[in-house]
Amino acid sequence: MVSKLILVLGDQLTETLSALKAADKASDHVVMAEVAEEATYVQHHPKKIAFIFAAMRKFAKRLRDAGWDVRYTQLDDTENAGSIPGELLRRAEETGASEVIATQPGEWRLIRALEDMPLKLTMKTDTRFVSTQEEFDAWAEGRKALRMEYFYRDMRRKTGLLMDGDQPEGGKWNYDAENRKPAPDDIAFSGPMQFTPDDIVGDVLDLVEARFGNSFGQLRPFWFATDQEQARRALTHFITYALPRFGDFQDAMMNDNRFLYHALISPYLNVGLLDPIEVCKAAEEAYKDGHAPLNAVEGFIRQIIGWREYVRGIYFREGPDYPRRNALNHQRKLPDFYWTGDTDMNCLSKSITQTAEEAYAHHIQRLMVTGNFALLAGINPHEVHDWYLRVYIDAFEWVEAPNVVGMSQFADNGIIASKPYVSSGAYINRMSDYCKSCRYKVTAKTGPNACPFNTLYWHFLDRHSDKFAKNQRMNQIYANWRRMDEDRKTTILSEAQTFLDSLT
Ligand SMILES: Cc1cc2nc3c(=O)[nH]c(=O)nc-3n(C[C@H](O)[C@H](O)[C@H](O)COP(=O)(O)OP(=O)(O)OC[C@H]3O[C@@H](n4cnc5c(N)ncnc54)[C@H](O)[C@@H]3O)c2cc1C
Ligand code: SF4
Repeated sequence: MVSKLILVLGDQLTETLSALKAADKASDHVVMAEVAEEATYVQHHPKKIAFIFAAMRKFAKRLRDAGWDVRYTQLDDTENAGSIPGELLRRAEETGASEVIATQPGEWRLIRALEDMPLKLTMKTDTRFVSTQEEFDAWAEGRKALRMEYFYRDMRRKTGLLMDGDQPEGGKWNYDAENRKPAPDDIAFSGPMQFTPDDIVGDVLDLVEARFGNSFGQLRPFWFATDQEQARRALTHFITYALPRFGDFQDAMMNDNRFLYHALISPYLNVGLLDPIEVCKAAEEAYKDGHAPLNAVEGFIRQIIGWREYVRGIYFREGPDYPRRNALNHQRKLPDFYWTGDTDMNCLSKSITQTAEEAYAHHIQRLMVTGNFALLAGINPHEVHDWYLRVYIDAFEWVEAPNVVGMSQFADNGIIASKPYVSSGAYINRMSDYCKSCRYKVTAKTGPNACPFNTLYWHFLDRHSDKFAKNQRMNQIYANWRRMDEDRKTTILSEAQTFLDSLT
């Protein structure tokens, strides 16, 4: 019988993967490879590389224990061909296989590389999502605006999650208005479950330290879950101790608490250690048991069957050029402090330092601190995209690019966001305690101590008034700008420009 190669990528660590389901355990060979090309096409955070390699090694062992023939290549193997297509060709020669079965990768770059390979390829749909691309495209077809909320409601109907017959549980689809409480004085959650590295993780940490030790970010301490059992324990820990308050403080930020009530499960979901429906059902169960309130559970489920599915649909619908879009023609280079955290702006310094140490920042830090600043300052969105793809442990292009290029930088011209996510310092002050320990004064609008977000905010609106002044959701803001005294406007714009000119 002619054997086939079954490709399992580093973010496809799920036993029910479509490629594995299409395989014959008795004759086919699973190919897994730690290759330089994937680890270096952008310089990933060392924690991200270690997480993926460790999870891959454990998953390969699991497959072997289940009777699969796994051809696994470690990064430092002398015969390592250095790329996924190269490894497939090498394994084809070794086994005599001439056909590859793959599950569609989550990145156009790799899809193209597989398609260009001189081996017969069957690319299976990735069934680990609630929605198929066909469903998403059918939903999007003919709509003037692709708003997540309406897609999300369809996903609620499809999954039956938090549904009471054909009506949403509690009578409302969305409880976001209850999920915007500012930072509390303290947090009654000790943070995500942490795991001591075992021998497999330890070996990977040594390898990553030797090969990628000079990249941005700290490798150690490393505490992420690296297999399915651990990831499930981390989920249970979150549901038990944090979910009840997840909603209330979802948007809050704190100097001395990096995780608040967030789940830290995105890396596990994105590489396949957790299944989105399993996660949502566990949260729904907590609501039904009376353990967690509806605003928390609905908010959490919306992130997963709403936002996560929606951004994936957008990524594949929009095509390979999406990460290159630049609707606002922003050309400034990314400031150096994104790599050092060395800035007097405390919100940025804290968010970037945390990113270097944890490979994690939560949604509002990404959107309203680092993303907001980049948009206000007119940083080239492709550089911003590159930064996010490098620095976060959960960053895979299908989920990162729509969030960064679309939601955060408005570079897709409003496909995802109906208006740009920009704010002055007031929003950051309301949602965090960052401003209390900042050298700038958030209440000062101009002058040497003025919070830079305050002047940059108006600079952004003024320079893009052609584009946004007619946006209904921004009418009021532009009316405020127009009413402002001309001298004051001139001072604000010139101080913002001086600040921008000082960025290196
Ligand atoms: C500029 C920017 C860049 C981002 N880049 C990524 C990325 O590279 N990878 C990534 O997984 N998420 C990304 N997100 C979404 C979100 O910030 C992370 O999913 C979240 O912070 C992960 O932490 P958590 O597990 O503690 O999430 P929680 O806040 O506890 O949320 C639970 C889960 O919901 C899902 N989720 C929440 N928001 C989103 C969203 N906007 N898009 C997709 N899924 C979402 C995640 O799977 C997450 O694990 C980005 C958001 C922004 C604004
Ligand atoms: S004052 Fe401005 S720069 Fe400082 S922490 Fe607050 S928002 Fe950030």
